[in-house]
Amino acid sequence: MTHEYDVVIIGAGGAGLYAALEASKQAKTAVISKLYPIRSHTGAAQGGIGAALGNVEEDKPEWHAFDTVKGGDYLTDQKAACLLADEAVQAVYDLENRGLPFSRTPEGRIDQRRFGGHTRNFGEAPVRRACYAADRTGHMILQTLYQQCIKNKVSFFNEFHAVDVLIEGHKCAGLVVIELATGELHVFKSKAVLFATGGFGRMFGITSNAHANTGDGPALVVRRGVPLEDMEFFQFHPTGIRGMGILITEGVRGEGGILRNNKNERFMEHYAPKLLDLAPRDMIARAIITEIRGGKGIKGDAAIDDYVHLDATHLGRDVIEAKLPEIADFSRTYLGIDPAEKPMPVHPTAHYAMGGIPTDMHGRVFADGEGNLFEGLYAAGECACVSVHGANRLGTNSLVDLIVFGRRAGLHIADFVKKAELSPLSGDATEPAQTIVNRLFNGKNGPQPEELRKTMQDLMMQDVGIYRGGKEMADAVKKLEDLRQEYREVRVKDRNKSFNTNLLEILELGNLLDLAYISATCALNRTEIRGAHAREDYPERDDDNWLKHTLAWLRDDRVEIDYSTVDVSVWEPKPRKY
Ligand SMILES: Cc1cc2nc3c(=O)[nH]c(=O)nc-3n(C[C@H](O)[C@H](O)[C@H](O)COP(=O)(O)OP(=O)(O)OC[C@H]3O[C@@H](n4cnc5c(N)ncnc54)[C@H](O)[C@@H]3O)c2cc1C
Repeated sequence: MTHEYDVVIIGAGGAGLYAALEASKQAKTAVISKLYPIRSHTGAAQGGIGAALGNVEEDKPEWHAFDTVKGGDYLTDQKAACLLADEAVQAVYDLENRGLPFSRTPEGRIDQRRFGGHTRNFGEAPVRRACYAADRTGHMILQTLYQQCIKNKVSFFNEFHAVDVLIEGHKCAGLVVIELATGELHVFKSKAVLFATGGFGRMFGITSNAHANTGDGPALVVRRGVPLEDMEFFQFHPTGIRGMGILITEGVRGEGGILRNNKNERFMEHYAPKLLDLAPRDMIARAIITEIRGGKGIKGDAAIDDYVHLDATHLGRDVIEAKLPEIADFSRTYLGIDPAEKPMPVHPTAHYAMGGIPTDMHGRVFADGEGNLFEGLYAAGECACVSVHGANRLGTNSLVDLIVFGRRAGLHIADFVKKAELSPLSGDATEPAQTIVNRLFNGKNGPQPEELRKTMQDLMMQDVGIYRGGKEMADAVKKLEDLRQEYREVRVKDRNKSFNTNLLEILELGNLLDLAYISATCALNRTEIRGAHAREDYPERDDDNWLKHTLAWLRDDRVEIDYSTVDVSVWEPKPRKY
């Protein structure tokens, strides 16, 4: 079946829904989502959305922008960071006006709490910048945006799974999608396509990410000649539930929670004397691993299972139940621990992709490092790289990114489609996708996809995780090449067309394998320590050689690397001290 729209948006998380909200005011808009919209991972965001409202203490967008640049270890594009911080303020008020039930101060203003790396006056001390709705901020954002989209008559295609994007030359003409209920392939012809497919934490064994976070968007576009930016930078959040990776929000430390080692020491005093437990995530994740390696972790069941404590007992039951109810629930459910009485066992967990599809500040996708663009192709949210997060994202800055750049992309698209035409499609647009599906259904059973997935996740965890070594990563790249070869022999077991989740999981595994291969190759290539990319064999940041973005293409099934310039036009890069 073929559909025609002005705009097709893939993804119904915060970025996709905000873009849809703006685009649908002027253009015929469809949102395609493999999940029901409010099950998107945005709904799992707990802690907050950063904006310099200055509601509880003095704050300025300029300070927010500086923190974002410094937090990103100066790989952040600085004008984009300034725009993010400036527009964050209005974006939060827009959400409030659309009905988002923020937590309030006694005077009735939006309340704000502390979060890692967010400071007053260019690094002086932590500042209260994170606006929040208890620890259900993302959930509230999704609910608010979804109801507004319904009001605007956006057409939703839920449980439709994008499998191919139609790009000819530098022009995007639409999309090919599988309908889960029937197994049928649909073609969506459109003047503009926006990717808002979220992150890909599932390439790691221990992650805070939902099962659906498999990087479908970046994988589809990279196969069609689009480069991916800064894929070597993947953030580990310091406080995942030990062994499971489920997130304990940084909001706990924002409210005053403290990390402690097996001697009950507040070890962050040694690593970030000023910001302590509210230093940026890359530094805290490394500090935890250093403590554990130095024998100061708390003994787990196996060597890799050692952990540290996140202590919130001194906050008191009232604060915990009012401001962190979800976390208290997680802790009781998954750990059998009441956080008002005992500290929670935590370990870093793979959390956020700083890299992704390269875009300008309107969400338009770059074709190279020279500033050339694809026509009609857009990306926003975690799958995109603007780049405001540089080498390490600050907490609360992803939700801002979704809202600010989702909105900007939606506005630009609405304007673009007024002048654009639908492109004619040459031949049968479904053919490449159909060939892949046919291959997966035909022939003998090959390797088990679960085993390939586990091997990839273990490899990424061990060799392309928090600390990285050249030799180990070279080995990982080689093994990922082999895994991608083996993947070609994988076959679908479930022969049904209807609700064939087996087929979709195999397609998702293929996407993860491609992104893991690209990420590991880029990580091996970058010989320095910067933000979340910590090379043990190159333990210095190297601005002379590496103050540049990586761009990676998949050509003839090999990764090809080029670079683009980092915008450092506002603040001169300095060593990071907290
Ligand atoms: C547990 C957790 C807590 C977090 N807490 C915070 C926080 O407090 N503050 C903060 O700033 N950030 C937080 N983050 C990060 C932030 O939530 C995410 O980066 C952000 O929500 C991603 O939003 P998105 O719109 O890009 O994508 P998502 O919300 O992940 O949505 C992706 C959408 O794409 C669709 N999709 C994907 N692939 C396909 C396909 N092939 N076909 C069709 N549809 C597809 C999905 O159905 C979904 O609708 C948190 C992340 C996690 C995991």
